[in-house]
Amino acid sequence: MQGAMQPAIYRFKFGNFEITNILDGKVIRHGLHPSFGPERGADEARDLCLANNIDPDRYEHPFIPTLINTGKQLILFDTGNGTLRREYEQLRDRLSDGELVARLAQAGYRPADVDVVVITHGHPDHIGGLAEGGQPTFPKARYVFGATEFDFWKRGENVREARKFNRELFVKLALPLADRSSFVKPGEEIAPGIQAIDAAGHSPGMLAYHVESEGKRLLIWTDSCIHYVMAIQRPHWHLDVDDDKDKAVAARRRILSMAATEKLFVAGFHMPFPGLGFVDQAGGGYRWVPASYQLNL
Ligand SMILES: [Zn+2]
Repeated sequence: MQGAMQPAIYRFKFGNFEITNILDGKVIRHGLHPSFGPERGADEARDLCLANNIDPDRYEHPFIPTLINTGKQLILFDTGNGTLRREYEQLRDRLSDGELVARLAQAGYRPADVDVVVITHGHPDHIGGLAEGGQPTFPKARYVFGATEFDFWKRGENVREARKFNRELFVKLALPLADRSSFVKPGEEIAPGIQAIDAAGHSPGMLAYHVESEGKRLLIWTDSCIHYVMAIQRPHWHLDVDDDKDKAVAARRRILSMAATEKLFVAGFHMPFPGLGFVDQAGGGYRWVPASYQLNL
């Protein structure tokens, strides 16, 4: 026996850009229900899992930052878990150890090569890799935050109980970066061809990103959908980790509709590795269609 051996880096050309999806880690979590669809019956959730050939009781939850080399800049979308799992007992079952920096090296990059770090939203698995041992992980980077998102965590008002610890993490990891950061609103470009899209709901100011080069279009939807069956086939179901449940449902429907009707490539932070695919309309909801060789042509 040699143990499992699975890919963790996936790189492809996208117009004039080169894009690398890197698996920061994955964790096994328990019970898709009632995490997904707490307002629905357990049997309904179980049937949906079985119809899709997945275990209703245990599921794999991956973390996949996306790195874009535009030819001029190296732009990292989210930083994964970093050392949070090791540092905080209460995160032990939720997060994985962050492998991003080690795998960046395998992909040919040093942390100092990263020019821009974009944080789609302030949850632990997206900001955890910002710093290590009190030092910024990406020493030469400037940062991009959603203006609403940054402001929310900075103020610390109306933070729901389940996110109070998350707020402490944001204060520790992200606030010190304010003077090296720009704060964007939906519709604004962060680099030529890369535009922020409103995806608020999962967090108060979450931003997705639309990436376009030479007519190729990719949607980095971050946590708009965080499970490839439950969130996509049943976008209207509530999700315990969505901060504003109804707003998150509306954003999820909007993002899914956009991906399906415009036939966009999707990069999903929590989709099965390499986190790349399409969305098709199916039976009142949608269906995740993993990319095959489309990105290799
Ligand atoms: Zn996440």
